[in-house]
Amino acid sequence: MTCRGDRERLCGHLRHAQDMARLGLWELDPVQGTLWWSDEFRVLLRIPAEEPASIEGFLARVHATDRARVAATLHEEALAAGHDVEFSFRTVRPDGLVCHFVGRLRREAAAPPGTAAVLGLIQDVTVATAAEEELRRQTAYLTAILDHMPQGISAFDERLRLQYWNRRFADVLDLPDEALHRDARFEDLIMYPARRGEYGPGDPAQLVAERRALALRFEPHRTERTRPNGRTHLVSGEPMHIDGEVAGFISTYADITEQKRAEAEIRHLAHSDALTGLANRFSLYARLGQAMADARRSGQSLAVLFLDLDRFKTINDSLGHHVGDALLVQVADRLRGCVREADTVARLGGDEFVVALQDVGCAANAAHVAGKLLARLSAPYVVDGTELHAAPSIGISLFPDDCADATGLLRNADAAMYHAKASGRANYQFFTAELNRAATARLILEGKLRRAVERGEFELWYQPLIAACDGTLIGVEALARWRHPQDGLIAPDQFIPLAEETGMITAIGAWVLGEACRQAVRWREQGLGALRVAVNVSARQLRDASFAEAVAGALAASGLEAGALELEITESSIMEQPERAIDLLRALKALGVHIAIDDFGTGYSSLSHLKRFPLDRLKIDRSFVSDIEHDANDAAIVAAAVSVAHNLGLSVVAEGVESAEQVARLRKLGCDVLQGFHFSRPLPAAELAAYIRTHRSGSTIASIPR
Ligand code: C2E
Ligand code: CA
Ligand code: CA
Repeated sequence: MTCRGDRERLCGHLRHAQDMARLGLWELDPVQGTLWWSDEFRVLLRIPAEEPASIEGFLARVHATDRARVAATLHEEALAAGHDVEFSFRTVRPDGLVCHFVGRLRREAAAPPGTAAVLGLIQDVTVATAAEEELRRQTAYLTAILDHMPQGISAFDERLRLQYWNRRFADVLDLPDEALHRDARFEDLIMYPARRGEYGPGDPAQLVAERRALALRFEPHRTERTRPNGRTHLVSGEPMHIDGEVAGFISTYADITEQKRAEAEIRHLAHSDALTGLANRFSLYARLGQAMADARRSGQSLAVLFLDLDRFKTINDSLGHHVGDALLVQVADRLRGCVREADTVARLGGDEFVVALQDVGCAANAAHVAGKLLARLSAPYVVDGTELHAAPSIGISLFPDDCADATGLLRNADAAMYHAKASGRANYQFFTAELNRAATARLILEGKLRRAVERGEFELWYQPLIAACDGTLIGVEALARWRHPQDGLIAPDQFIPLAEETGMITAIGAWVLGEACRQAVRWREQGLGALRVAVNVSARQLRDASFAEAVAGALAASGLEAGALELEITESSIMEQPERAIDLLRALKALGVHIAIDDFGTGYSSLSHLKRFPLDRLKIDRSFVSDIEHDANDAAIVAAAVSVAHNLGLSVVAEGVESAEQVARLRKLGCDVLQGFHFSRPLPAAELAAYIRTHRSGSTIASIPR
């Protein structure tokens, strides 16, 4: 009874266990084609209690897609003795829900085929399958994400066997396909880069062993590695923990090539001028410091050359910044080409450059280099098909003679550069203490000049222009003077260049033009006859787009006829921008004013160039006149200039005539008009009127030797 009671209890427990495990029992006789199923089996498959067990009844519950496969499994031939047949299948419940099952069948090993029934289980694994499916999807997402990462990623287990790698990993290490597989050994993988020399020189096997030892410590590490193809990778390793235990490590390979390039670029930019690639102010100071230290040690000297382009601002303002920039790049190239590797070439901004020459020896050597720079930079530039001229003015200071610190050296070279500009541009000058004083004086003068413009402290003086043929007065040249309340009368050489540099010449020039026209009319009103008045025009005024209008305005305001006004323009100011000058001169000619080229012989002195411009007169510079009796060369130049000028239909004025001998000589050479102290110094307006009246007697003012 007890036994029976135990068995019943056991059966009850078993049924309970089956229910909890969602297990169903079945017994199949493949030969007879019969089936027995347990209640649990039937319940799991949602088969009604009244339905008799049958293979067909079972297969009818199996998902249509799985049905043929499952049916094949239940065949006699498929059920060999001795081992389990296991298969999965889905069912579709009456409510439409798809459930997942695993089926198992076992034939006793001893039983011959065809004899005994086959016992089996089915298990509802829907919940586990759903979890598995979810895991599979998550893994697919993670893999996709990791494959999209720009970094190469790999994970090794604690025996350093490859467990995971993403797509980039293979690219980054440049591994052959066969090398990459699950459980691949760390040392096998890194043998490839080691052989390529990516861990540096040395025996690859040795290098790999070192790396392996390092990896086995499972310590975080970061190294940069440059591949033979020039790309740089940041390799980092992190230990990986599972349940608090080291379970291997993850290494990532980030391609930092672009970042490195950008960093290098930033470093370069911080130390160099973006436009020209030359050193900038910052690195110039650093290099000067180094060069001075070297020079001190070796007892050598150092030269600092400060360069400023004479015409740059005009080019930049009129032709545009892109032309200015292109010009600066060419200047930088030429500068680099002129000095040695060890020398420094820097751009301080704008059109200011500095060249520092090491081991220069003596001042003469520095002068030699300055001369070379001058010649190279003075050659014409071509930008956008346009020929440009931009000669430099160069100031030189020497270490240790002039100054013993970088700031002082640069300041002195800058002062010397100003001196070069003041000495007619396109030349070089050395720094002297005298120059230093001059630089200070210049600043003071600038302040005074500004006040002079505000207060109108200028006067015009006039110097007669005499016809060479008969000594008659044909006109005057108006020359500016500055009457400073304390310093007295100041000559134009003292303030015109500064006025040009600072732009104050625009205001001064406008006043000069208006005043000269008014004065000519006043003389006429005083009965002194029609005198032509020549007015000096600076380069700066010519750059002003509205200059022709200003001239027309001055004529209209004074009532002077255009033919009585002559504008004196230097050759170099025309050549700054020849094309613009042609237009401007044409506009001026259209007004009826005359145009003279001033100081001829000191600039380009190219008559073939001047042929293109609508001119009336050529004024030969007084430097040729002063020596004309003794210097055959000067005489020849004057003769040639006269002949070409006459050919071009221009009349010739000789300035700075101081002696009767010069008068004779110049007349013989064919000059048409003479001007100079021999006839009269420049005079204030009232004195000039008196001068005319005194010399009026015979209509001839001067005695002209025949
Ligand atoms: P520049 O146009 O060549 O003027 C002639 C200069 O030669 C004048 O000097 C005059 O006094 C001087 N000179 C005349 N005859 C003789 C002579 O026989 N011997 C010598 N040694 N010199 C003689 P100044 O008045 O001192 O003017 C100097 C320069 O200043 C002028 O040279 C001109 O370039 C500039 N300048 C004068 N006034 C003006 C002006 O209103 N506007 C502009 N832009 N420049 C002016
Ligand atoms: Ca003049
Ligand atoms: Ca002159």
